Amino acid sequence: MSKRAYIRAGVLSIEEVFSLITTTSEKAVLFGKNVKISFTSVRFQTLLRSQVCSSCGLEGKFFSVEKHAKGEGQAYHLNMYAVITDGTEVLMTCDHTVARSLGGSDTLDNATTMCTKCNVKKSVVECLKKELILLKERVSQIESRLVVREAQLDSITSCNR
Ligand SMILES: [Zn+2]
Repeated sequence: MSKRAYIRAGVLSIEEVFSLITTTSEKAVLFGKNVKISFTSVRFQTLLRSQVCSSCGLEGKFFSVEKHAKGEGQAYHLNMYAVITDGTEVLMTCDHTVARSLGGSDTLDNATTMCTKCNVKKSVVECLKKELILLKERVSQIESRLVVREAQLDSITSCNR
């Protein structure tokens, strides 16, 4: 297994995180750490609205108070995880139904809870689809050039008859 990318201070149940929600503060002290919780962020709202992966049905079971292992001054924040049968934790993410690169908005109605595995798969599928579109365009350009060249050849050879 790859080295953990996050330093973990502790874990909280989904219910415990629900009870932390406040409209006045985006900070909390958890496990002795100052934790930044963007209660109003699309990511957080999406994870609170549904803990279930919209693609495979995997369910987030807990929140972890953690920060990136790399980088100085990284803030502790909450990440939600599911646990699969072999005990592996799977990070739950906020997926944009219409990708932001394709003009999708960063709003709750364009966001859905998705596990990392499905999110990665979706990205690969989107990349392949984009490449297929480009390849088909190239094939179509080559086909039209072929038609033009055949017509040119036809007209030249028919002049010689
Ligand atoms: Zn999934």
